[in-house]
Amino acid sequence: METEFPGFRIVAKRDSALSKLIDLALKLVTFGGQRDYMTHYHTVLGNTLYTPASWEATPDLERVITLRHERVHLRQRRRLSFPVMAFVYMVPFFPVGLAYGRARLEWEAYEETLVATAELRGLDALRSTGLREHIVRRFTGADYGWMWPFRSVVERWYDRATERIEEELAGSRAPSPTRGSGFG
Ligand SMILES: [Zn+2]
Repeated sequence: METEFPGFRIVAKRDSALSKLIDLALKLVTFGGQRDYMTHYHTVLGNTLYTPASWEATPDLERVITLRHERVHLRQRRRLSFPVMAFVYMVPFFPVGLAYGRARLEWEAYEETLVATAELRGLDALRSTGLREHIVRRFTGADYGWMWPFRSVVERWYDRATERIEEELAGSRAPSPTRGSGFG
C-alpha cells in the first residue's frame, strides 16, 4: 500500500484528537447508535488509516482483509478527487438513513472484503451466514447512520456478489469487483 499510496500511515484512533471529535459528532447524529467508532471501526482520512482499539488484537489475516477493503476507499478517493469523495461521503450523512452515494462506495469496498475473504480464508468463510449478517447490518443499521436501510436490496447485492465471486474463483480467474454494481 505504501508503494501505491506514498505517505500511507496507520494511526491509532486513541492517539488522534480528530478521531475523538468525529466520535462525538457521530454519537450526536446517530443519537448514540454509533458508539463503537473508537473501538471497532477503521476510518481512512487522507492517506491515514485510523485504527480502533480492536486492531491490536486483530490477527494478521483479518488485518490484510481490512487493508484490502480500505485500499478500495483510497482508490475511490484518487478516482473521485478529495472534494467529491468528501461530499459523497459526508454530506449525505445528514439526511441520516438515505446515503446512496456512501452506500455505493461501501458496496464496492465490501466486495473487495468478500473477495479477500474467499481468497484468504476459503469458500466456507465466504458463505458464512454470520459474515453476511454482519455486513448487511453495516448498511441497514445505526453503524453507518442507517446508510441504506432497505434490507432486501442489501441482501440481494450481497448474494449476487458472493455468487459472482464463487463463479470467478471456480473459473480460476482472479476475481475483480464490478464497478458500480450493487443496486439496480
Ligand atoms: Zn468501508
